[in-house]
Amino acid sequence: MNKPRRPAAGPGPHNTHPGARSGDGRAAFSAANSNTRILGPRPFVLPRPAATESAASAGPPANLGLNSERQRHEMVRRLRAQGITDERVLAAMGAVPRHLFVDQGLASRAYDDAALPIGYSQTISQPWVVAHMIEAMARDRTPQKVLEIGAGCGYQAAVLAQFVPVVHAVERVQGLYEQARRHLDALALPGRVHLSFGDGMAGLARHAPFEGIVVAAAGVKIPEVLFDQLAVGARLIAPEGSTHQRLMLIERTGPASWQRTELEPVRFVPLRPGTQA
Ligand code: SAH
Repeated sequence: MNKPRRPAAGPGPHNTHPGARSGDGRAAFSAANSNTRILGPRPFVLPRPAATESAASAGPPANLGLNSERQRHEMVRRLRAQGITDERVLAAMGAVPRHLFVDQGLASRAYDDAALPIGYSQTISQPWVVAHMIEAMARDRTPQKVLEIGAGCGYQAAVLAQFVPVVHAVERVQGLYEQARRHLDALALPGRVHLSFGDGMAGLARHAPFEGIVVAAAGVKIPEVLFDQLAVGARLIAPEGSTHQRLMLIERTGPASWQRTELEPVRFVPLRPGTQA
């Protein structure tokens, strides 16, 4: 399970699995818009003012509703082909309108298996990565309360809230926190999402323990304080590393014991300390 795959040569996308392939077998490389100091030139850069409104607030084009349902269906088919098997996760991915979480100009690409820019040099994660992380975190159990670090535009929190009753999500960039809030407020989600503006490297001690933690940005090391905020038996999934990153799965096996499993190479935006107004 979760066989490590060969990392891509050269700069790749963020919040993305470099070895992930789209359903037709083409490598799924696309957006990269941060980390560029480390990773070199960007495959493409959208000139996007920091406070640009996204599709949720601007209103999607009239024909996108029906199209997007078809595209989501196709995305779920592709996720199955890429090895996602958890029906709760597939249903959740099929239910969340990803095109409402990106800028209107990118809405037609919203269901590609790619990370896309969301402003502030950050990205919305690649669908496969979102599905894979949630599947690994929630395997064999239905967590009742989870924590997401790095909410970005709110997409993964919305996916989690399809089958997790309580989702706490933290974002350090104020403009993205506000964007996530708008996106999440616009949807009727089965679960509740509590969004916080702050530095998720400290976790969210006042709401701990969590029955799952998903970290959507890569630290050189996963902050250890997060391990203590896991309930016994729960799992945390996070990318770790800088230029070479791997997805790590941490399971709390007892009050003072954790088991660490290394999964595949990935490329995420960096986990940064503090907040950005
Ligand atoms: N979960 C998002 C992915 C967003 S990209 C999705 O659904 O697509 C990762 C996000 O992590 C960025 O928005 C970045 O600002 C945020 N981030 C980085 N360091 C953080 C920190 N210490 N605390 C909270 N958020 C952080």
